[in-house]
Amino acid sequence: MGAALRKQVYKKTNGRCAFCNMKLTLNKLNRGSENQRMTIDHIIPKSKGGESILDNYQPLCTRCNQCKGSLLEDEMEVKTWMIKLKQK
Ligand SMILES: [Zn+2]
Repeated sequence: MGAALRKQVYKKTNGRCAFCNMKLTLNKLNRGSENQRMTIDHIIPKSKGGESILDNYQPLCTRCNQCKGSLLEDEMEVKTWMIKLKQK
């Protein structure tokens, strides 16, 4: 993924994790804890037909991304996250 697209995803939530609202760092070289680095998450997983487009991306901190990984099978959870993102 290109740097420009990463920045667009970052801006969607004003640089905060879409789930826990923690301030994230866009640049890998920034200081800060490992957990604060932005990871790009597919709101609807590719395995469930989610597209690789900006609308389907959200920034997550490392911890939430790992946490979401264990929730992927819960369809309701995914929908909740989508609604949350649209309300921003
Ligand atoms: Zn988070």
